[in-house]
Amino acid sequence: MASVLLVEDDPVIRSALIEVLSAHGHVVHSASQGFEALREVTQRAPDVVVLDLGLPDLDGTDVLRMLRGISQVPVVVATARDDDAEVIKLLNAGADDYVVKPFSGGQLAARLGAVLRRTAPPAAAAYPAGGPEQTAGVPAAPRILQVGDLQVDPPARTAYLAGRELRLTRREFDLLAYLAAHADQVVSRRRILADVWRQPYVEDQTIDVHLSALRRKLGERASQPRYLHTVRGIGIKLVAPR
Ligand code: CA
Repeated sequence: MASVLLVEDDPVIRSALIEVLSAHGHVVHSASQGFEALREVTQRAPDVVVLDLGLPDLDGTDVLRMLRGISQVPVVVATARDDDAEVIKLLNAGADDYVVKPFSGGQLAARLGAVLRRTAPPAAAAYPAGGPEQTAGVPAAPRILQVGDLQVDPPARTAYLAGRELRLTRREFDLLAYLAAHADQVVSRRRILADVWRQPYVEDQTIDVHLSALRRKLGERASQPRYLHTVRGIGIKLVAPR
């Protein structure tokens, strides 16, 4: 069970979705406009937000960006368009997942369940330093992962570069924490998709979008990497800069 904020201006769709999500055991509050949604996120702190992109008062992508300025709540966006540019724009703006209209209530409920599982707080066990096969009988990995001047604290979901806190989206944090837990190893894109995204259908490009956002926040460029190194055809490696 989760508290869901449903942002949808169409009253027919709204009441249908409230019914389905309630039947899945969620507590659903709704908003029909963008500003109202931002206020509700601040006041109710929902576990997850379902955001329709076609709202009367604000562009949905702007709502998403503003929302990301105030909260790390997982967001599933409902978009009418299913093209690459649109999806990349949404992921860049901080969406955790999306559904394409028209979608069924059952599909939305399943997406919400998956997002809630991926973003559940006890993250410590998700980043075993030596891989799951080495955890038995081995002392627990230190809580803080340190790579050069970079410090990542998975349970607290915070990351600092040279003492300055990095403002990361949920997925950027997951990716950085995963790479930090596997520092100095080349991690394949397939493993990242399986372990961080836990969704086989995600495009390679999705990783690139998040990597380039991470690079920007780490203050580096792909052409002059310091922490994040792409090993062409193999994968990605996080290392302490020399
Ligand atoms: Ca709408």
